[in-house]
Amino acid sequence: MDNIDQTKIPQATAKRLPLYYRFLESLQASGKHRVSSSELSEAVKVDSATIRRDFSYFGALGKKGYGYNVNYLLTFFRKTLDQDEVTRVTLVGVGNLGTAFLNYNFTKSNNTVIDMAFDVDHDKVGQNIGNVPIYHLDDFKEKIGPNVEVAILTVPSHAAQGIADDIVEAGIKGILNFTPARLSVPDDVRVHHIDLSVELQSLVYFLKHYPM
Ligand code: ATP
Repeated sequence: MDNIDQTKIPQATAKRLPLYYRFLESLQASGKHRVSSSELSEAVKVDSATIRRDFSYFGALGKKGYGYNVNYLLTFFRKTLDQDEVTRVTLVGVGNLGTAFLNYNFTKSNNTVIDMAFDVDHDKVGQNIGNVPIYHLDDFKEKIGPNVEVAILTVPSHAAQGIADDIVEAGIKGILNFTPARLSVPDDVRVHHIDLSVELQSLVYFLKHYPM
């Protein structure tokens, strides 16, 4: 397992890993040592051919009649997803959505922790929500330090690009963008865009046009 080149794992596969990871962890917790691809497929809603292909990238070849070894897979996933190290995350914009994230305990299902948040609203600055202190955005550079890897952006869209520039300047390489704004960032910064209203609209569209 040590000599698997993790850069060779396709991005689509890498994106599914947390899904697999969460389910396998619950299997392990319930004392199961093996799982078939059809069982996994049913649980994570990914077809079993895709699962087999995903797993083949890291040398987990299921045996006929046995399936996959849960511990082997988990060890691999932990390594790949860096579950052994805590990833520090910051959040900018403590509105309704931002507040929900601060109250949500991400550490339960993966080793990420939001350890500070920023806003410009003086009523919010100085407070703690979900044990996370809220600072003024003016103090971003000073407070952020070198070890924060990801920023969650839950500000109004007109403020998004300016804040993204600050985030980039602070050396943060990952942005989870919940605003509708399309962000321009340098090539070495990764933005994952989650526009909840677009997702909802697209789900409604699929339900209407492609009923199952
Ligand atoms: P609320 O009801 O608390 O205003 P909301 O989610 O409806 O929540 P938004 O207008 O989307 O409000 O703003 C989200 C948060 O972003 C708010 O807490 C707001 O104070 C903050 N915010 C607005 N502009 C900026 C900015 N330029 N930089 C940082 N935070 C900002």
